[in-house]
Amino acid sequence: MMAGSSKRFVIIGGGPGGTTCATHAARLGAQVVLIERDIVGGAAHLLDCIPSKAMIATGGMMSNMHDAHEMGLAAVEAKLDFEALKGRISDIETRLEKSVSSQLASQGVTIVEGTGELVGPNRVRATKPDGTFEEFDADVIVLSTGSRPRIPDWAPIDGERVLTTRHAYPPPELPKHLIVVGSGVTGVEFVHMFSSFGSEVTLVVSRQHVLPQKDPEVAAALEQTFVDRGVNLLKGARAETISVDGDRVSVHCDDGRIAVGSHVLLAIGSIPNSDSLNLEAAGVESKWGYVQVDHNCLSNVPGIYACGDLSGRLPLSSVASTQGRKIAEHAMGLHAGPHRHIDYDKAASAIFTEPEIADVGLAEADAFAEGRKIRVTKVPFSVSAKALINNDPRGFVKIVTDPLTGVVLGGSIVGRHAAELISVLALAVTAGLTVTDLVESLFVHPALAEVLGEAAE
Ligand SMILES: Cc1cc2nc3c(=O)[nH]c(=O)nc-3n(C[C@H](O)[C@H](O)[C@H](O)COP(=O)(O)OP(=O)(O)OC[C@H]3O[C@@H](n4cnc5c(N)ncnc54)[C@H](O)[C@@H]3O)c2cc1C
Repeated sequence: MMAGSSKRFVIIGGGPGGTTCATHAARLGAQVVLIERDIVGGAAHLLDCIPSKAMIATGGMMSNMHDAHEMGLAAVEAKLDFEALKGRISDIETRLEKSVSSQLASQGVTIVEGTGELVGPNRVRATKPDGTFEEFDADVIVLSTGSRPRIPDWAPIDGERVLTTRHAYPPPELPKHLIVVGSGVTGVEFVHMFSSFGSEVTLVVSRQHVLPQKDPEVAAALEQTFVDRGVNLLKGARAETISVDGDRVSVHCDDGRIAVGSHVLLAIGSIPNSDSLNLEAAGVESKWGYVQVDHNCLSNVPGIYACGDLSGRLPLSSVASTQGRKIAEHAMGLHAGPHRHIDYDKAASAIFTEPEIADVGLAEADAFAEGRKIRVTKVPFSVSAKALINNDPRGFVKIVTDPLTGVVLGGSIVGRHAAELISVLALAVTAGLTVTDLVESLFVHPALAEVLGEAAE
């Protein structure tokens, strides 16, 4: 019998964090109950992350068709079929939810529809939609309830004209003129998405450039494409109030400027779903609503773990599911072996704009800020035969290495398929590979990945 095989797991929240933990724990021999109140697969994951990428893919195909004449095709005019797009999104959501549910079922995980809360350090209550409740004893409790959009008190969210990300996939109607408030990752993806559908877009940028957390050169490359596409950038403006007058929406900024459009969308961050968890019942410590966890995702209470957005680490699906898997291993006693802690600094992430943006590991700007010696090499995609074949030579690959050892420390990619290509650098960063390893890899020709080898030279 495997170590800890009789352990009872109760997991609250069925997003990538909770479901990955559930399947792994069940595979390792645990009895698992998963409580989910909304959608198995995760509200942020299935209702935000996935549909946003589906809409972006549709917009990308429209742009490709628009440029078809440059590929030697007769002009093609793509017209958005908004109802068909809604159907496509709902189909993807349904298929993914079914696939996750059947994986859980095949591992013997019991799914309970309801809202979970702690009633003690070893007991959880699930309140069902009909108001009845059931309680479960647990050896291991995993809190994975995710997050929801942050709504400031000055924003009269109505789901019709004033939207959060939750109303936008797809929105009730295609905005004629969308004002996006927030120029982080989610905000710029919205700008890209709706401008590719033909909406006029205004972006309210509180700083002097978009993507304040990213490499300035990368952010500048994206900003230029926005300018080229006619996006209105309202820089250095902080939204203070929103007013709605019939079909006109106005965003009033702190410097007196007013942006007027048909819809406004708020993309100003998220807050953790911890308010209904009754953390106090078990004495679980939290800060600003995020459960405080150690490198094993364990809270201050033995046997109670937290993962995903609720853990306050990187809010990414990939991170949530990796944490979920690690929790299952740790709680089942497998951490004594070659168990590696998650190194959040090595998580790859992408922004699905056009061009795509992806990065991993140490950023050039951070290295300079720390006074750390690095070597930076940059090669544009315009040198790549494949980029010319694709009719898209925009962007570049930048690799950050240790000048003494040649170890790859990080990198950024701007350009087509950046989100796929970054995986090569992510592997290099995680495995401690050197530039020589990249240079000596026999990449396919012609392929965009060849530029990685060139940047490593
Ligand atoms: C617009 C947008 C785009 C994104 N794009 C990407 C992307 O491209 N790539 C990426 O990696 N990440 C992306 N993310 C982030 C990603 O979606 C989240 O980091 C990820 O879903 C977090 O997983 P989770 O398991 O913590 O939470 P979730 O996926 O939100 O799952 C938590 C679940 O818990 C349930 N729940 C909450 N409270 C209770 C309760 N008391 N009882 C029972 N159930 C409860 C919720 O209904 C939900 O289903 C995006 C997020 C947004 C908002």
